[in-house]
Amino acid sequence: MSAYLRSAAHLDQLPSRELPVTGDSRECRFPSTRAQALPCNSERFSVQSVAEERQRMKYAIVLPDGAADEPVERLGWKTPLEAAKKPHIDWVARHGRQGTVVTVPPGFTPGSDVATLSLFGYDPRENYPGRAPLEAAAQGIPLEPRDTIFRCNFVTIAAGKMADFTAGHIPQEETKKRIGFLNEGLRTEGCRFHAGVSYRNLMVLSDFDPSNLRCTPPHDIPDRPVADHQPRGTGAERMRAIMAKAHEVLVQHGEATESAGATDIWLWGQGRVAALPSFQSRFGVRGAVIAAVDLIRGIARCAGMSVIDVPGATGYLDTDYAAKGRAACRALGSLDLIAVHIEAPDEAGHLGDAAEKVKALEMIDEYVVGPLLEALRGYGDWRILIAPDHPTPVGSRVHSATPPPFCMAGTKIPTTDNSEAFSERAARDGGVRVDPGHELMEMFLRSQNP
Ligand SMILES: [Zn+2]
Repeated sequence: MSAYLRSAAHLDQLPSRELPVTGDSRECRFPSTRAQALPCNSERFSVQSVAEERQRMKYAIVLPDGAADEPVERLGWKTPLEAAKKPHIDWVARHGRQGTVVTVPPGFTPGSDVATLSLFGYDPRENYPGRAPLEAAAQGIPLEPRDTIFRCNFVTIAAGKMADFTAGHIPQEETKKRIGFLNEGLRTEGCRFHAGVSYRNLMVLSDFDPSNLRCTPPHDIPDRPVADHQPRGTGAERMRAIMAKAHEVLVQHGEATESAGATDIWLWGQGRVAALPSFQSRFGVRGAVIAAVDLIRGIARCAGMSVIDVPGATGYLDTDYAAKGRAACRALGSLDLIAVHIEAPDEAGHLGDAAEKVKALEMIDEYVVGPLLEALRGYGDWRILIAPDHPTPVGSRVHSATPPPFCMAGTKIPTTDNSEAFSERAARDGGVRVDPGHELMEMFLRSQNP
């Protein structure tokens, strides 16, 4: 348990001793906005730096990917969020408000691309460029307007079924080697392959119109026959030919057998070059994002936000949670807003592993949310938002469009519900419903009384 929580265990009274409170009892649990409310007697602060700190509100956003779920039998019919010991996150829900947010507009495939765009305040119906273009932006791949970018997963297809959409979380050096073989072997097809992180790679095709092509994300068809989910529409034949040729290349080079290892590539998530209106111009805050996965880094780059690299952040269950938490706290010193994305709960959901999901949530609570709350407390005005992008239930192992829960707390965010903990149920039963979901960012950043 962090020092913050040890002190917060009584506070419900925490700021009343260390940070004077306003007269409004609904706000009394948060640091005041008045000048004298700051810890001016602290030797760490000069008068000037205190004044500077006070100029701007500090915002922290934690995005536990795919964290929302459904009741799980193995967890005594609790959801992983309900089963996890997450005292800091529960503190936020208890001292602020929670609700649900419609991150995936009707007609969109539930995924982190669409859902995270919503959470960052962009309406996917107006701003969605496709998943692969966002990832290409993250990787800084030089592109031209006539280019179409595809997500190119390394996958394992065995007995005609999608056995593993990650090809066993193929190691990076193996990825690079195989991308080299593909670039050699498919040069005549006009495609260019770019290595991303592990199984998440990209392919670029010039002079290809993607507007009538439909592809299926491989994580949506675990253990299902791939023949039923091949690309459809204009250009589908060409896609199938490229995937078949890639299979030959991978097997020829001895990098896979017919049924084990990275047997195939799977193309999906296509679109043209992406650009978003800048986050700072829209919301008036300078923000940065910490994320290991290219998709989230791409959304940040397209929105003009900085991306902070954290050594040890892997985008998987073994990520260095504490390093991410420390980097986020440091970033608050020079920025208005830091958003930390953690992929692990989503990966646990895809694995169907309830225990791993619970563990991921507990790690996020202890090593990311706890330190952030502690750091935020050093500033005058602050707010924190915790928002999974979508559910990845361990039962179905695929994303769902059910609106996920969120909670927020901080300066001038009143305590509006009586729940003790953050959960899907509490958010649904007692909370507000934000629809469309892109309005949540506006509410979090700007509202005087969200
Ligand atoms: Zn996922």
